[in-house]
Amino acid sequence: MPHRHAGAHRATHAARGLAAACLVACATALAAHATAPDAPLPVQELRPGVFVHLGAIEDWGPANGGDVANLAFVVGSRCVAVIDTGGTPAIGRALRAAVARATPLPVCYVINTHAHPDHVLGNVAFRGEATRFVASARFARALAARAPSYLNALARDFGLRLAPAELVYPDVAVERSTELDLGQRVLELRAWPTAHTDNDLTVYDPASRTLFASDLLFVQHMPALDGSLRGWVAAMAELQQVPATLVVPGHGPAREDVRAALAEQSTYLDGLLRAVRAAVQGGLTLSQAVDRVGVPDGASWLLAERFHRRNVTAAFAELEWEDDTAPATGARAPGAKP
Ligand SMILES: [Zn+2]
Repeated sequence: MPHRHAGAHRATHAARGLAAACLVACATALAAHATAPDAPLPVQELRPGVFVHLGAIEDWGPANGGDVANLAFVVGSRCVAVIDTGGTPAIGRALRAAVARATPLPVCYVINTHAHPDHVLGNVAFRGEATRFVASARFARALAARAPSYLNALARDFGLRLAPAELVYPDVAVERSTELDLGQRVLELRAWPTAHTDNDLTVYDPASRTLFASDLLFVQHMPALDGSLRGWVAAMAELQQVPATLVVPGHGPAREDVRAALAEQSTYLDGLLRAVRAAVQGGLTLSQAVDRVGVPDGASWLLAERFHRRNVTAAFAELEWEDDTAPATGARAPGAKP
């Protein structure tokens, strides 16, 4: 725009000054807006009506804002089911905003796949009269037992104060299985015997043949054992029977080669079971087993250094008291002294 006189020129200079200031201040404001609690969480519609948010392949912590678990929602003709809500209330609010952007339909169900903090601490964002919370029948006890440590971690690591009353417990407890009707779309829920945890629950959407595997499946991210290795190995064989053509793991990218994704994790779990059982039978101590049991097949899982030794520890504690009459693999622990 031409400058007709000095006054206008000065005004323009002033405006430029403001613009320059805005470049800094507004960029800061925009950045803040980009991470504002109610900015919709990025989601991808992987199948019609199936929306997925992939968390970072990292440990739950402030560096990633607690955004490490995969979250999803499925849209029926009547309402929406949300599957896991994220590692902080802010992530839950961002997920709610993503739902609202995708559909005007209400959220009738929030399904929690298990009581780990990265999957459930966003629940509070969905609390409302019309929304029912659904989880394994063993979920409530598991969450109550860990609640003090989760709330401490939120305060200590994230600077977030959450009252115990803001932890949302299920209204619907699934003992073995149940169905949720979203209107012309019925989700099949299944609660599992102890595997990744003692309260795992998977969701299958026959309409899109999508399996939401919860943390019963990790892709790229090393599996993390907090339940029963033997139970998890058994669950893997049953998951192979689900006629899914898309699987959304609890962590890592979704996969259309469902059986291969499951098999990759089975290689790790089966190998871990064999090696730790052999270590126990070979008379190794726990610390010897932790030092000597390597990653089976040397597979390149992400976060292996963080989780593998912990997995060996958990597996050792489980297998140490295993019935000696149980079928043995006969293999000796790597490096075990005869
Ligand atoms: Zn988990």
